[in-house]
Amino acid sequence: MSHRPGDAVPGVQRLDRILSPEPAAAPRGAGAGLTVGVLALQGDFREHRLTLERLGAGTREIRRPHELDGLDGLVLPGGESTTIHKLMEIYGLSGPIRAFGRSGRPVYGTCAGLITVARETVEGYPPTLGLMDIVARRNAFGRQVASFETDLPVPAVGERPVRAVFIRAPWIESAGPGVEVLASHEGHAVAAREANVLVTAFHPELTGDTRLHELFVTMMRRGATGSAAAEPPRAGARRQPAPAGTR
Ligand code: GLN
Repeated sequence: MSHRPGDAVPGVQRLDRILSPEPAAAPRGAGAGLTVGVLALQGDFREHRLTLERLGAGTREIRRPHELDGLDGLVLPGGESTTIHKLMEIYGLSGPIRAFGRSGRPVYGTCAGLITVARETVEGYPPTLGLMDIVARRNAFGRQVASFETDLPVPAVGERPVRAVFIRAPWIESAGPGVEVLASHEGHAVAAREANVLVTAFHPELTGDTRLHELFVTMMRRGATGSAAAEPPRAGARRQPAPAGTR
């Protein structure tokens, strides 16, 4: 009897099924049922996808404006903010991502992503999206300590400190009155939230600690929590109402 590759052989499980098993059931976890976009132009977007998928969320890599349709939230990863800015312009994504954030849907920026959502940078470059009322200082921790790790208290996610990995990280130089600082390192704000926007100067996606992504999931479950901060939504901009009865 001839046998071609791919034919089922009784009693023999196909190797590809063993290596890439289908999920046995619908994914469970805090993120189940959500679809989260991860801007995938440059930087560590894969680590964000893996972290969100560990929480049961579906993820989608975003490189084109139409890929934003139907998302529950969007992650802007770490990388190089000048490169990300240039690629967002080339791919026509700056305007659509700004509109996405202004519509009230949750956005989480880590490191270069924090810079991208800021109102502006101390350095005046790159141009930013103005989704959070913060001024970011790039490479703020200086040459000697360009990259470091520390146990950082972030009370919003629990008593146990977060292992925070800083890689040529920015800090929040100043913040408007609507910004809630969630963590500071040596007197400088390094995590914050304002309405539908969350930022961390460090990289929770690199440590296996999912608590900051869980906080982001909570924001997505709540829907919009208020206006996107830096500028009022323009007339006609749609805002997603918070579903009744959610926390
Ligand atoms: N230093 C980078 C910038 O200014 C950010 C570094 C990072 O995202 N890890 O864009």
